[in-house]
Amino acid sequence: MANKKRIETICVQGGYTPKNGEPRQIPIYQSTTFKYDTSEDMGKLFDLEASGYFYTRLANPTNDYVAKKLCELEGGSAGMLTSSGQAANFYSVFNIANNGDHVIACSAIYGGTFNLFDVTMRKMGIDFTFVSPDSTEEELNKAFKPNTKAVFGETIANPACCVLDIELFAKVAHAHGVPLIIDNTFATPINCRPIEWGADIVTHSTTKYIDGHGSGVGGAIIDAGKFDWDKYADKFPGLTTPDESYHGITYTKKFGLGGAFITKATAQLMRDFGSIQSPQNAYYVNLGLESLHLRMKRHAENGQKVAEFLNNHPKIERVNYCGLPTDKYYKLGQKYLPNGSCGVLAFLVKGTRKDAETLMKNLKVAAIETHVADARTCCLHPASATHRQMNDEQLKQAGITPTLIRYSCGIENADDLIEDLAQALEKI
Ligand SMILES: *Cc1c(COP(=O)(O)O)cnc(C)c1O
Repeated sequence: MANKKRIETICVQGGYTPKNGEPRQIPIYQSTTFKYDTSEDMGKLFDLEASGYFYTRLANPTNDYVAKKLCELEGGSAGMLTSSGQAANFYSVFNIANNGDHVIACSAIYGGTFNLFDVTMRKMGIDFTFVSPDSTEEELNKAFKPNTKAVFGETIANPACCVLDIELFAKVAHAHGVPLIIDNTFATPINCRPIEWGADIVTHSTTKYIDGHGSGVGGAIIDAGKFDWDKYADKFPGLTTPDESYHGITYTKKFGLGGAFITKATAQLMRDFGSIQSPQNAYYVNLGLESLHLRMKRHAENGQKVAEFLNNHPKIERVNYCGLPTDKYYKLGQKYLPNGSCGVLAFLVKGTRKDAETLMKNLKVAAIETHVADARTCCLHPASATHRQMNDEQLKQAGITPTLIRYSCGIENADDLIEDLAQALEKI
């Protein structure tokens, strides 16, 4: 593409440009392997001397069309798809942090990511410090250690709905010579492009809004290509010194700052862990991307209308949604998400755990699911689902209020969502 196209056009046409007589829609390369005329041809691929495909555990053309579109949407230099959002976040950190290293992560992040960091990656010898999303520059500075390799946060936190001050986190990370990794799942590149605010690596659970139809689990990593690994070569030897498993190539030398991170994640982590997205699922992700700009507009409009309704309802104690002027994150929302945030909000019902259960039981349009960020409205009461084994005191310690409900507005008519909530609230 000669000129940089606008975001809506990239959603529809980015990543794949068919040549004369080729399929208009991206082909699904449902093939584990690829044929070559000579062993020399294939040898060059194994040495990373030539680019091409040889085995779908590492890379597949269908996935790469979709990764390229996502990369264009986020304004990055290179991208890759993974089998899940969990795999994307794991790779994004493990690609630069090893046994003995330390990573700073925002405490308001998705529970699955928190477990990955706090339990599983600790077992791998990587230490984590969790900081408040509301940390000041001074507080953030204090969290750094000589072995810190990255800072991690979410644009809009799942499920707390706080908005991260990406510019501040990027500034502090860069002052300490490490990259900022941002999980942009809830905002999507339609409503926020973290790279424009200084983020270095962007991750996604494409399972959520990007797919949008609850059809396939998937993830993605996009590199901004701006972080100067060579300037901090001692911190990032995996990128700046020879990789013996590829005949001694050095990723930053061979692929430049724009290609080093994603090439290493593909050549080493995909090769060894194999968390590849199936080409069939990549095709669904692409279908989702084609309408992402239309859907996000409606998700955010519905989120705003439902948040306003709940915020004015006498049986609701509090609503967390950055589009409400009374919300703690309103100002950050206006800065980072000027076109709207997303469809997910969290609210507290006045009363007890049982009152929240009564509300949930009586909802007819919104379905009870663990899923979020889907075309269909869904909701979850953590105290009676994901955290049901805990009593009220234990819930409090876990930072979950017994009456908290996470509500994810789909793209239905907002009046139907509001009427549904109104009748269920009457039952309390
Ligand atoms: C769901 C989610 C993940 C995990 O993604 P999966 O595709 O379920 O593995 C990571 N981050 C955020 C913000 C999420 O909402």
